[in-house]
Amino acid sequence: MGHTFDCVIIDYGHGGLTLDGHSVHPGHKEYTFGQVDQDGHPLPETLRGLTVREGVINRMIAWCLMKLLTDRGVVVHDAVAGRHDWKPETSSRHAHQPWRDLEVANIPLGDRISFANGYDNGLLISVHSNAMGTAANPGPGQDVVRGAAVFTSPGQTKADPVATSIWDALSSIVGGLGTRMLTPETTDGDPDYERAFAVLTKTDCAAVLIEGLFFDNIDDAMVLLSGGGRTTLANAYMRGIMAHVEPRRVVQRFGGTTYKPGVLLDDLTVGEVHPAIAERLDRFRYHHLPPHLQAVSKPFSDLAHALALGDNHPKAGNVTTGQGPLEGPALTEALTLLWQAKNAAVYTMVGRG
Ligand SMILES: [Zn+2]
Repeated sequence: MGHTFDCVIIDYGHGGLTLDGHSVHPGHKEYTFGQVDQDGHPLPETLRGLTVREGVINRMIAWCLMKLLTDRGVVVHDAVAGRHDWKPETSSRHAHQPWRDLEVANIPLGDRISFANGYDNGLLISVHSNAMGTAANPGPGQDVVRGAAVFTSPGQTKADPVATSIWDALSSIVGGLGTRMLTPETTDGDPDYERAFAVLTKTDCAAVLIEGLFFDNIDDAMVLLSGGGRTTLANAYMRGIMAHVEPRRVVQRFGGTTYKPGVLLDDLTVGEVHPAIAERLDRFRYHHLPPHLQAVSKPFSDLAHALALGDNHPKAGNVTTGQGPLEGPALTEALTLLWQAKNAAVYTMVGRG
C-alpha cells in the first residue's frame, strides 16, 4: 500500500443556499430540465422545470462524506469554511438538513488552496458533479454522457492511489451508477482522468477531484436528488479514502463500539461514560465562543455535565442535583433536548455581544 495521510481536507464546490433557501449564485452551475431529456425523449410532466444546483448537491454529498469519515475517527478539515477539525454538529435550525450548516458562500479557490496547503500530509478531496456543457463526449466505452469520474493532476503523485481506490469503490456499487471510465485513460495507467485543474496542481498536498455524476443528465440527476443515491456516492468516496488515511488512535471500546478521542471529552477517563453520552456532552463545548455566547452556553454545559457525571465533576460548575452520575435513555434524551435549548439560546444572542 502506498502513502498514508493523516487528515482529509474537504472542498465542496460552488455556492450553497441562503438561510431563506435561495441560491447564493442564482443561475450559476445549475440546470433546469425542459420538455425532453438529453437523448431527446420526452420527460414526465413532473420533471419538467426541475432545477438541479451543483453547489447544493456538492454540499449534501460532502456533509455525508465528512460525517462518514469523522465517524471512523478520521480528522476532517473544511477548506470552504476554513474550519479545522470539523465535527458533525447540527444546529436545530437545520436539524433535518444538516448539510446546510456548511459554509454557503462560494469561497475563492485561492483561499481554499491556501487552507489546504496548511496541511503537509493532508489529502484534499474536491467534491463536484459534472455537467455536459464542459464534457459533452461520452466516456470511453459509453454511449451516453453520464457517470462519475475521478481526477488527479498529471503524472504519478501521492493522490493517484487514492483516486484509484475511489474509482474501484464507485465501480463496485451494486447496480452501478454508470461510472464514467469504463476503460482506463492510459496517460499513467490509472483509471483516473489527468487534468491540470488549479485545485489539483496548485495544492502542495495530494489532491483528488471527484465529478460525481452529471447533474444535467436526468438519470444521474435522479440519483443525485435522492438521499439514497447521495449516501451511496459518499460511501464509495469514503471507502476509497479510508484505505489511505490514518484514523485517530482508538482509545476506548465500550459495548463493542469503537470510540475515538475526537469526540471524547479530554478529561473523561477510559470507560467513564457511554460513548453516546460522551458524544452529547462534547456538543456543549463553549470555550471557542465569544464571551457573551459563553455566558449563555456555560449554564447548559454545567447542567449537562452534572446530570451525566455528577455534581462533583469539574465541568459541572455550581450545579447541585444531589445526585451522582445518572444514566439510561432518559438521560440521553435530556442531553439532546438540553443541547437544542442551548443552541436556541445562543441564536437569540447572536449579533448582540
Ligand atoms: Zn463543479
